[in-house]
Amino acid sequence: MSMLEGKLAAVTGGSRGIGREICRALSLAGADVAFLYAGNEEAAAETLEIIKSAGVRGFSYRCDVSDAECVRASFGELLGELGGVDILVNNAGITRDGLSMRMKDEDFDRVVAVNLAGAFYCSRAVIPTMMKKRSGKIINMTSVSGLTGNAGQANYSASKAGLIGLTKALARELAPRKITCNAVAPGFVETDMTAAFRDNAELEKSIPLGRFARAEEVAEVVKFLASPAADYITGEVIRVDGGLAI
Ligand code: NAP
Repeated sequence: MSMLEGKLAAVTGGSRGIGREICRALSLAGADVAFLYAGNEEAAAETLEIIKSAGVRGFSYRCDVSDAECVRASFGELLGELGGVDILVNNAGITRDGLSMRMKDEDFDRVVAVNLAGAFYCSRAVIPTMMKKRSGKIINMTSVSGLTGNAGQANYSASKAGLIGLTKALARELAPRKITCNAVAPGFVETDMTAAFRDNAELEKSIPLGRFARAEEVAEVVKFLASPAADYITGEVIRVDGGLAI
C-alpha cells in the first residue's frame, strides 16, 4: 500500500512551480489531490493531468485564497463531495517587491492577504473535519525571507514571518486533536517566481550548496511532513535552502 493511499490532500497554488511538484509527489504517494489556483487555466489543466496520471483522483478549483468567501465556497464544495481533507498544504504565494519607503499600500496589503490571510482562511476551512477525525497535517510554505528578512521584501518577509507564527499557534491549538502543523522554508527555488534572478553567479555564490533548489526537492520535504513518518513533528520550520540561512 502506498504511503498516502486513502488520504485526500488539498494544495493551494498547485497549478505551477513548487505547488505543482507537491501535487505530483503527493499523488505518486497515493493521495487524492485537490488544488486551488488563481487563474492560469492552462497550467491548472497540466497539473490535473499529472495528478490523474498517478492513478488517483484529481480536482481543481479556481479560487483566490485571499477571498474568504471563495475559500469557504471551494472547501465547502470539496468537503461536501469528498468528505474530510487529511493534508492541507498552504503553498499559494506572491511577491510584490520594492523598497519600503516607496512601497504602495496595495502592494503591502495584497502580499499579506494572499500569503498570510489566505493560509489562515484555508486552514480554518479544513480544521473542523480534521478535528472530527482526530488527525490531520497542515503544512505552510514560508520562506527564508521570513526567517532572516530581506531588503526590498518588507511585505513578503512580514507575510512569511507571520506564517511561521500562524504555524506555531495552530500547532499548539490543534495538538490535542493529533493534528500537526509545520512549515517549510525554501531559499531560492527554480520557478517562475525567481525567473528574474536565474543564472546570477553572485547569488549562487551566496548559497553554500552553490545552486537554486529544484521544486521537487521542496516537494519531497512536504511529502515527508504529510506522511506518518512525521507524526511526532509539530510547530517546526524546516529550511530547504542549500544552507542559505545557516
Ligand atoms: P509560482 O511559480 O509563482 O506559483 C505560484 C502559485 O500560486 C501558482 O499556482 C498560482 O496560481 C498560485 N497563486 C498565486 N496567487 C494566488 C491566489 N491569490 N490564490 C490562489 N492561488 C494563487 O510560485 P513558487 O515559486 O512555486 O512559490 C510557491 C510558494 O513557495 C510561495 O508561497 C512562495 O512564496 C514560496 N517560496 C518560493 C521560493 C522560490 O524561490 N520560488 C522561495 C521561498 C518560498 P496561477 O498559476 O493560477 O497563477
